[in-house]
Amino acid sequence: MTKNFRTIFSILVILMLCITFFRIRLQENNLAGCPQAEGSFFLMNTIVQIRIYGDKAEELLDRCFELLQDIENRMSKTIEGSDIYRINNSQGEFVSVSNDTIQVIRKALEYAEITEGRFDPSVGVLVDLWGIGTEQARVPSSEEIKVARGRVNYRWIEIDEEGSKVRLLKEGMKLDLGAIVKGYAADEIRKLLKAEGIRSAYINLGGNVLVMGGKPDNTPWKIGIQDPRRDMPGAIASFEVKDKTIVTSGNYERYFEKDGILYHHIIDPATGYPADSGIISASIITDDSIDADALSTSLFLLGIDKGLQLIDKLDGVEAVVVKDDLGIIMTEGLQDKLILLNDDFYIVTRK
Ligand code: AMP
Ligand code: MG
Repeated sequence: MTKNFRTIFSILVILMLCITFFRIRLQENNLAGCPQAEGSFFLMNTIVQIRIYGDKAEELLDRCFELLQDIENRMSKTIEGSDIYRINNSQGEFVSVSNDTIQVIRKALEYAEITEGRFDPSVGVLVDLWGIGTEQARVPSSEEIKVARGRVNYRWIEIDEEGSKVRLLKEGMKLDLGAIVKGYAADEIRKLLKAEGIRSAYINLGGNVLVMGGKPDNTPWKIGIQDPRRDMPGAIASFEVKDKTIVTSGNYERYFEKDGILYHHIIDPATGYPADSGIISASIITDDSIDADALSTSLFLLGIDKGLQLIDKLDGVEAVVVKDDLGIIMTEGLQDKLILLNDDFYIVTRK
């Protein structure tokens, strides 16, 4: 599929969603006799799909989408008046923001520390400069990249002592929580559903998947790892899980092509260019989606050796990496669980 065709296809999908008031809904009893509700929504720049099993499923579905809208209104970089928008436009000044925004920024700073700044929530200026995923996508000049890199450093993000205000210490700096906010949102949906007694649900925020419990009949969910080759639909591998989140970062998600070179949306602050780590997709399987989201982006940025060294040190975190030669490397805990579905790929044995 050409990029133009993809763009037209994406616009058509979005238009269809608009026509149905951005919402497709299903309510029925599933085979296990459990009420269920399912909805899809265009939010956070992606298609969100939620399926809930249990009493009040339909009402809870509405509340989930309201919650997501609320998180987006606070943490989007582009929505005027959002917490992040106000921080980015009040350089040098402390800005009062919601507790959740502080919580997400703190978590992002933790990952910036442990990845030595490869994951960096202050990457906003570089992200805007490249414009990947927008109509303005272009290859910047090396001078522009140099200037923008000089405005990226998570250590210049300051949270006040009371933990209610944030300021950016360097002029022209910009926060971007795009690598972590979907994970946070998935966790928040789970919190809401759990408090309402829901034990089985499937939440998918554009590839950030979180499953609650097992399926309504208590069998595990089967989760696929998407084919990371551009325009190749389908799963390359699958495994079964209950109560887990699976988040993937890939160079096929948002990109543009110029003079035969593909430029994708995960920018390495060390170079100012899209990360070129030999990885085409990095998936994390763990308990909390905020960690999975931050870690999948981090793994993608750090590359196979450093990235997997980091994952190996973390308790309860598993990873699947697809290399650009279609080799699949996974952590120990997945070795007898992952089923390869596509012969173009091969499993790499870790030394
Ligand atoms: P993900 O799809 O979760 O891997 O996140 C990619 C998004 O994170 C991009 O679209 C940017 O908004 C943002 N981003 C890009 N590069 C970085 C980086 N080095 N550190 C943190 N966030 C980034
Ligand atoms: Mg991420």
